Amino acid sequence: MNTAVPVSPVALVAALRSAGVEPLVDRALGPLTTYRCGGAAAVFVEVDSPEDLVAVAAVTARLAPPVLVIGKGSNLLVADGGFDGVAVQLVGAFLDVRVDGTTVVAGGGASLPVVARRTVAAGLTGFEWAVGVPGSIGGAVRMNAGGHGSDMAAVVRRVRVVDLCVGNDVTMAAGDLGFAYRGSRVRPSDVVAEVELALDPGDAAAGRRRWRRSCAGVENTSRAVTTRVRCSRIRRVTRRAV
Ligand SMILES: Cc1cc2nc3c(=O)[nH]c(=O)nc-3n(C[C@H](O)[C@H](O)[C@H](O)COP(=O)(O)OP(=O)(O)OC[C@H]3O[C@@H](n4cnc5c(N)ncnc54)[C@H](O)[C@@H]3O)c2cc1C
Repeated sequence: MNTAVPVSPVALVAALRSAGVEPLVDRALGPLTTYRCGGAAAVFVEVDSPEDLVAVAAVTARLAPPVLVIGKGSNLLVADGGFDGVAVQLVGAFLDVRVDGTTVVAGGGASLPVVARRTVAAGLTGFEWAVGVPGSIGGAVRMNAGGHGSDMAAVVRRVRVVDLCVGNDVTMAAGDLGFAYRGSRVRPSDVVAEVELALDPGDAAAGRRRWRRSCAGVENTSRAVTTRVRCSRIRRVTRRAV
């Protein structure tokens, strides 16, 4: 029997504030997801720097609330009852992408299409497939996202992971991530804070042709989904108005 007393949102908010982080209470999660539905997080934190992420992890490790990492929400369906814990989303410095030769370092919140375009513009090849996947690179590592015959396992060299349950901050080599088909050893309490990719020199024009082919028929898959969601809302509103 689990006799642990669940920590209250009030205690969580107070602890996060004293760690220098400003949380939100009862933050609706639906708008942060592709499917735009579901309830609220009891406590929600946007984290914009590695220092703040480590500070949040120290609080969650000490108070042990349920934790949820939210990327771009393209693979998340939130329960109507919401989430009774701390939800964390990476913003700010975690959206940055740096290219140095054939090495690409991206913050865990960076958008896959943005990273893919940056790598092609830098004359690199190996990540064009990600241009049509509407997620973040951190979420992509967790599920070993992929397409067009490639996946994250083929390009990741190392990742920085902060564990919200234990509070530690470690760098893991690709070989330790247990990549499998649409899965990895990254746990629900792990935040993939930074990802280093090892790509190959390529040709920007050829890369652009490859990404156009990979999006053929659906220029941008995420736009296709949001358009459909918006259309169904418009239809519902129209029916009510009539
Ligand atoms: C239209 C459409 C097309 C898609 N096409 C593809 C495709 O071609 N190939 C493919 O593989 N997938 C595809 N997906 C699924 C989805 O985009 C990918 O799984 C993506 O990698 C999820 O990333 P996300 O940031 O949206 O994660 P979320 O949906 O926010 O979260 C998914 C999971 O990852 C975890 N997570 C999110 N961010 C982090 C982080 N920084 N650190 C640790 N864990 C994290 C969450 O806790 C959750 O468990 C598609 C989805 C849509 C809607």
